[in-house]
Amino acid sequence: MNQVSEQTKISNARAEHGDSMSIRRQLLAYIVAGVFVLLVLFSITISWLAGKETSKLTINNAQQVARALAQQSVLALLTESEENASTALDQVMSFPDVSGAGLVTLDGEIFGWRGDARGEQYFRNFDWQNTRSYLILEEDESNWFVASAVILTDNDGNSETELFEATEEKLGYAILSFSKETLTQINRDIILTIAITGGIAVIGLILIVGGAIQRQLAPLQELSEVMAYNHETGEHKLAKVQGAKEVEQMANSFNAMMLTLDEQDERLRNQRDQLEAEVKIRTAELTVARDAALTSSRHKSEFLANMTHELRTPIQSIIGYVDLVKEEAENEGQFDMVTDLDKVTRNADRLLGMINCLLDLSKIEAGRMELNLSSTYLKDLLQDLSEATAPLFPRNNNKFLLDNHSDNPILRIDSEKLLQVLINLVSNACKFTERGTVTLRVENTHSEINFSVIDTGIGIPADQLAKIFDQFQQVDSGETRRFGGTGLGLAISKQFCELMGAKIKVESIEGEGSCFTVKLPMS
Ligand code: ADP
Repeated sequence: MNQVSEQTKISNARAEHGDSMSIRRQLLAYIVAGVFVLLVLFSITISWLAGKETSKLTINNAQQVARALAQQSVLALLTESEENASTALDQVMSFPDVSGAGLVTLDGEIFGWRGDARGEQYFRNFDWQNTRSYLILEEDESNWFVASAVILTDNDGNSETELFEATEEKLGYAILSFSKETLTQINRDIILTIAITGGIAVIGLILIVGGAIQRQLAPLQELSEVMAYNHETGEHKLAKVQGAKEVEQMANSFNAMMLTLDEQDERLRNQRDQLEAEVKIRTAELTVARDAALTSSRHKSEFLANMTHELRTPIQSIIGYVDLVKEEAENEGQFDMVTDLDKVTRNADRLLGMINCLLDLSKIEAGRMELNLSSTYLKDLLQDLSEATAPLFPRNNNKFLLDNHSDNPILRIDSEKLLQVLINLVSNACKFTERGTVTLRVENTHSEINFSVIDTGIGIPADQLAKIFDQFQQVDSGETRRFGGTGLGLAISKQFCELMGAKIKVESIEGEGSCFTVKLPMS
């Protein structure tokens, strides 16, 4: 089954690479074209040479026949009687290629003409009176025209056609027309024979050379098909080592390359397996470490939550007892002691605030902070806020401004937590502003309600804005340290906001003031 699909893939590769002409076809085409051109040149040369030789022979022959006729025509020209020449003329006409024969007097009068009328016509137009030659040879496209002078040589009755005798007398000419038909036929036959034998030779050549090329190129083609197959499938199939020396060398090099690729693949596979195994081990180790860290963090948060809870009780009782003692001191008029006890109360309050912050934070981290939702009017919330923050404004001689753009909707919120967030923002604004204004702006977009606490205080440097919501983070300057604090207020506010589905953001310009906004969705 595998072998069959492999074969199919190889033939597909062959088909795809069959678009360009194969070496076999190209070689065959070149050879056939070369042989064809040679054959044409050869046949042209042969027919030209044969034609030349044949025409030379025919002309020679024609001249001899004309001379013979001239020798037999002395009497006929002397008497100007056709009868005396008719036997000779008939004889001449029986020669092959003689297409016409006759006699002509020096005045140009033709008599005894037989055969092709065109020849007679040709000789009739000839200027005989001004002709000095004894032998005339002319031709048109289909005939040679030969004339041989008829000479009377002496008085004793012997007549001969001697060409250069001083005593001779020219009586006229024996005229002949010789057809070129045979010559043309010979040429045609030569060309036909060459074409037929050439055609057979070309077909034979194609078969023989084609077969030979096929045999020589088959291993090369097989090699190229294996290459194409490997290229398409990504496999490293080896080629058969066969054929001419060069092809064998190519196949050997190709196989060596495939083996190297196999080795590299194997190495890569091993490395990948090793890496995967290592990653698995590391991941397991990290998971164990993370779980351990999470467990210990949870234990820490739980411990902190319990501890801070336990710390609150004694501090609260300290504050209660200090209040009692203070009352007694006031009643007894020990006002110095009252002042000292006020300091104790203030510091105990601060300590309680810090413990409360830590308690909130540890509860959040331990996942024990829950929302207590209730319905609250916005106005009531603002009233509580203003009461809780009223003592903060006189401390740094700040003015408070309420900029309320909202009606009085009922909010479904954890009012304690929202109040804690807003008190923290107002408290920070009062802390970091001196003789300025702290504004609380309320806007209602109906999808959310926005509380913005805007102050005209020291502001926050742009590069510190991102980190002030992190735990224990304060703006990094000596000035801030002057103001005290734990760096926990904003971290807790942010966690509370997230718990309530709200967002908190800050905008600030150093030296000009800050604006903290809580965006609470209206559910
Ligand atoms: P704390 O105020 O106890 O230091 P917070 O988390 O409330 O902690 O505030 C973190 C820091 O952010 C502050 O220490 C202060 O540097 C900066 N900050 C907060 N509010 C303001 C503000 N209104 N103006 C200037 N800086 C502020």
